[in-house]
Amino acid sequence: MRYYVLDRGDQLSVRLAESFHKLAAKYGLQLDAESPDIVVSIGGDGTMLHAFHTFIDRIPSIAFVGVHTGHLGFYADWKADEIPALVTMMSGHSESGELMPRIVRYPLVELEIQKRSGTSSYVCLNEFTLKGVGGTVVAQVDINDQLFEMFRGDGICVSTPSGSTAYNKSLGGAMIHPSIEALQITEIASINNRVFRTMGSALLLPKHHHVDIYSRKEQNLILSIDHINLPLDDFISVRCQVAKQKISFVRYRPFPFWDRVRNAFLD
Ligand code: NAD
Repeated sequence: MRYYVLDRGDQLSVRLAESFHKLAAKYGLQLDAESPDIVVSIGGDGTMLHAFHTFIDRIPSIAFVGVHTGHLGFYADWKADEIPALVTMMSGHSESGELMPRIVRYPLVELEIQKRSGTSSYVCLNEFTLKGVGGTVVAQVDINDQLFEMFRGDGICVSTPSGSTAYNKSLGGAMIHPSIEALQITEIASINNRVFRTMGSALLLPKHHHVDIYSRKEQNLILSIDHINLPLDDFISVRCQVAKQKISFVRYRPFPFWDRVRNAFLD
């Protein structure tokens, strides 16, 4: 079992990472920064986003597990004081001797961004957002190559099912169970009056559908891929669709999605 630990960098996370390494050595786990089987993120959801993008080229062969140092996260469900139990389970030395880890696989969204300077591809774990810098965004939205609407407003968010509980939720989007292979489009403060009109509802697109967003004026935009911001002044368009690859999380115990939702937002 090869593993890697990525911590948030604060004192507590660094200390927990050190104790993880000590225990891992005791149980014969092998630290491997290049090709780990499991990547442990210690911090919060933001640390998991960071871990995902650090290992973006190796997503099909890695499973992730998250430890939170503050409040329960959507991607970080192990508590700091459970690290000894986590290492034990990762090494296969569980008390019951029958804890085969379960791998759950969540859909991602892939993007192809066309700029005047070239094309680039990205994958998001939470969402992609397109926002204006100092002005209304004017963008044409096509679904499956058909004109859908002309958008005017602050921006557009395209989220994954597991990202539906993040920015998408603040925008009034629905929470989507990650077993549903879909992407969700939500508006950020669209302008709606007698002249300009958008759908106004969140849209859920299945796998094999795609949405293209075209810039329809000279505008400076900020494109965000999870926590990564890309300022662009030569943006032409972006195509978003459910990615061919998925992210894998290793589960040593059940923690159903709706329990997470209830814990995070109601309890
Ligand atoms: P951050 O420190 O601003 O954290 C934002 C919050 O989002 C944290 O509480 C985090 O736990 C939570 N979060 C992240 N992913 C989540 C998920 N899948 N489900 C539920 N909650 C989640 O920023 P960060 O840590 O770098 O995280 C970046 C994320 O912040 C973005 O991907 C976006 O989803 C989110 N965000 C939210 C808003 C908003 O709700 N208005 C605005 C900007 C960014």
